Amino acid sequence: MKLQISEVTVPGEAIAFHGSIDTTEWQAEPEGEALLDAPQIDGHYRRDGRYVYVDGELHVHGRTTCTRCLDDAECRQTLPFSEVYVKTATAAETDFDALPFDGSYIDLDALARDIVIMAAGAQVLCRDDCRGLCPGCGVNLNHESCQCVPEEVPPQWAALRELLTTKQ
Ligand SMILES: [Zn+2]
Ligand SMILES: [Zn+2]
Repeated sequence: MKLQISEVTVPGEAIAFHGSIDTTEWQAEPEGEALLDAPQIDGHYRRDGRYVYVDGELHVHGRTTCTRCLDDAECRQTLPFSEVYVKTATAAETDFDALPFDGSYIDLDALARDIVIMAAGAQVLCRDDCRGLCPGCGVNLNHESCQCVPEEVPPQWAALRELLTTKQ
């Protein structure tokens, strides 16, 4: 989505936008990760002289790997953003944290790609109560159980052991 910046805005007036992100220009996703729908973007922009302030949210629906059990995990993320663009960046403005644009269009597809890259590596679980992998044998405890003894001794066993030790 290319956001057309109107030349005739009232300074400071917020103009809303929303639309779908075109991901065809994005590089291949990391293995095991895939978008399930086109990301949606919504927000508003304000023009102030050569500067354009863009704020909003990116909505991403994708498939990735569960951090805890390594199974596929579907995730929906809402990623807020706030950017400043400047028409024709000059040397003086390179210190300033503004992105250049040509004065008429802002490339929201490229912005969305950067936002998604920044958000990569977030913890994602296949479900809230994912039981993860057994630290002893590595089985996925969501699908099967195993014979590994829990590291912590359950309280009733601890009491029994104490009883046996004192009787010796
Ligand atoms: Zn999981
Ligand atoms: Zn085990």
